[in-house]
Amino acid sequence: MALAPAALLRAIVDTHRQARWSPERQRAWVDARLRAVVRDAADQIAFYRDHFADHGVDAQAFRGLDDLHRLPFLTKAEVQDQYPHRLLADGVELTQCVQSATTGSTGKATRFAFSPETFAFYLATSLRVYTMAGLRPWYRGAYIKYSPIPLPDLGRFSPVLHVPSILPAQEQLRRLMSFRPNVLIGYASIILELARLVTPADCRRLPLKFISVNSELSTPAERAYIAERFGCPVYDEYSTEETWMVASQCRAGSYHLFTDNVWVEVLDEHGQPTAPGEIGEIVLTTLRSPVMPFIRYRIGDFGRRPAVETRCACGRGLPQLESFEGRCDDAYILQDGTRLSPLKLLNTFTLFIKSDPGLIDEFRFVQTALGQARIELVPGPRYDPARGTALVEALTRVIAEPVAIDLVRVGAIDGPARIKRKAIESRVSAPQRAA
Ligand SMILES: [Zn+2]
Repeated sequence: MALAPAALLRAIVDTHRQARWSPERQRAWVDARLRAVVRDAADQIAFYRDHFADHGVDAQAFRGLDDLHRLPFLTKAEVQDQYPHRLLADGVELTQCVQSATTGSTGKATRFAFSPETFAFYLATSLRVYTMAGLRPWYRGAYIKYSPIPLPDLGRFSPVLHVPSILPAQEQLRRLMSFRPNVLIGYASIILELARLVTPADCRRLPLKFISVNSELSTPAERAYIAERFGCPVYDEYSTEETWMVASQCRAGSYHLFTDNVWVEVLDEHGQPTAPGEIGEIVLTTLRSPVMPFIRYRIGDFGRRPAVETRCACGRGLPQLESFEGRCDDAYILQDGTRLSPLKLLNTFTLFIKSDPGLIDEFRFVQTALGQARIELVPGPRYDPARGTALVEALTRVIAEPVAIDLVRVGAIDGPARIKRKAIESRVSAPQRAA
């Protein structure tokens, strides 16, 4: 799967231009796009053909945004059951797609695919997250992620450093200090660990212009703490593995919804749109992934529309989200009371799930006491005990102090009756800290 630089360049120009459209023009575009997405899904995708028919939906008569509430929801369980053959558009070969998977934060793997064209668009919207925060072409960027993103090689023009998320914080900081990035991108809880570690002398040597945190919920207080420690602004974004970018903060601090990528509904417990300013469940419909669209997908996060929608000072016409909530795993508590980011453990599972599809269907990691933990694991169809042992060893390396980890194979994991249960849970209480 090769990414054509021309396609990427075109997507970059288009996504930056479209963000400046008026709200009315954005909405008209979404309306037309949605009609095409729904019609094509009914025509070309076995799952949606049956799913719509089962719920009495005539895709040919679907009129767009005003009819969206008539469509049935798509659940994670349906994606897990129906992927790949019944969820891919007719005639699409999986080998021509970008294949991906998420551990979500529920510990259950969800697999999906998208086309190289969609990937170019996703990369362009990712870039827009950072241009909205003030990225310049000559900035040196560093990002913290479980594995490197296959970016096109831009050579010396725009150097990029990948820092593996599961490395110890000291080693991550050492790599950042020697690369000296202008922009740092990564998981909120991992950058929070680095913020606790960084010294004023380190900061003077780091030419950081801004930090962008992603992938998990961070509070305004945590972002303010990171900003104070690193001495630069911190911006937040909201994305999901399945849909990529959903919203991100501009320099005026507003979360702009990326409605040129995904339409966001905020719904109450009866499936009705919430009143402005009220919290509700986020339901996503992708507009750019014809190979495998997600239509009214219950991602399991919660959000709030602004009480009053005003045009943002930055001039972008993309609508706004007041805040979002979700992703609330526990930190692992080390012997001295330090909190280890749950993302380090979650990403260790992710690396195994991505490299060995079929290894794990579902898991939960529970810290039962200081230095003790249990993995509850529902084996996948190609489970291999040797890989299970390797997983325990990898987690032990990430924790980097004595820990006894029991791996227990179970038939199912029952959690509280809520949409997202924790994948990483700690039953040890840690001393409270400022951030
Ligand atoms: Zn703005």
